[in-house]
Amino acid sequence: MVSLYMRRMYQPPYLKLYESGELLRRTEQLVAMLASCDICPLDCQVNRLEGEISRCYSGRLPIVSTYCPHFGEEPALVGTHGVGNIFFGNCNLKCSYCQNYEISQRWKEERKNEVTIHQLAEMMIELQNVRGCHSIGFVSPTHFVPQMVEAILKACELGLHVPIIYNTNAYDSVEVLKLLNGIVDIYLPDVKYSEDEMGYRYSGVKEYVKHSRNALKEMYRQMGDTLLLGDDGLVKRGLIIRHLVLPNDLAGSRETFNFIANDLSSQVTISAMAQYYPTNKVTAENADKFEYLQLLNRRIREREYDKVLDMLDGFGFENGWAQEFESQDYYRPEFGDRETPFKR
Ligand code: SF4
Repeated sequence: MVSLYMRRMYQPPYLKLYESGELLRRTEQLVAMLASCDICPLDCQVNRLEGEISRCYSGRLPIVSTYCPHFGEEPALVGTHGVGNIFFGNCNLKCSYCQNYEISQRWKEERKNEVTIHQLAEMMIELQNVRGCHSIGFVSPTHFVPQMVEAILKACELGLHVPIIYNTNAYDSVEVLKLLNGIVDIYLPDVKYSEDEMGYRYSGVKEYVKHSRNALKEMYRQMGDTLLLGDDGLVKRGLIIRHLVLPNDLAGSRETFNFIANDLSSQVTISAMAQYYPTNKVTAENADKFEYLQLLNRRIREREYDKVLDMLDGFGFENGWAQEFESQDYYRPEFGDRETPFKR
């Protein structure tokens, strides 16, 4: 599959929002939401401004587990110098198979990685100016959106000018996404399930399907079909929907593609991922005890993956990427520099 695009010089819209004062206004609005937190659909209503914590174990300050140039994203994002990824600690989901569980589910340890807003802004500038990254990628940003936007505001003062990527599990609030309009340049949601039962069973949240689909509709409303490429041939703006294929069709791939094709568009860019492997709570020991984990206790089979790729063709998707099936043999989150596992 090949991504369609237009070429032109690109100035991130957040720069105009910064100059007009709108970025400051949005920042203040988002930070105020922390007083009775409804930043994500879990709607915990704790006062994070006073340091109260709830489901995401995250208070007033952002937690950064690591930041680095990253070469494991889609080729049209990676380029020669990589995406400047900032991996937030903790998460609003609790996926039993989380491939990043070392930073997403070790809540007590991660609290030690709190940073100030100024430090977060300086990380962005370092990734842009010193490491030469083509963009800044916020990984698992949902529970830290206010802090992320505060840092973008601060980084604008310091000369930030590369696109912002919002790399999310899609369990996002529509109200918050509306406030990100013009601040985020590239939405990179991973659509996990097409049945609420799976979302509850494997990620511990209710109504995953409703919330993730509403979030996708809002991202699509902001971005539309087309990926905008810059003169360097890299994506500057748009929506790329990821889909991690799970064993035994637990991700409900057909229903997800059906939704995207019919409620959004078959011109949307899709990124199919084959990299699943059992990890975190999906161990042989746990799989012996719990049948629901047994279903996840293997890699996907080649024929399962081929079937998903055939579905993409069947729904008429033409734009995007599919990971090499073999990527599951070598692709592991290491939170450092690594090669892209994607092919066009
Ligand atoms: S961001 Fe955290 S505290 Fe706020 S609603 Fe979501 S899980 Fe709850």
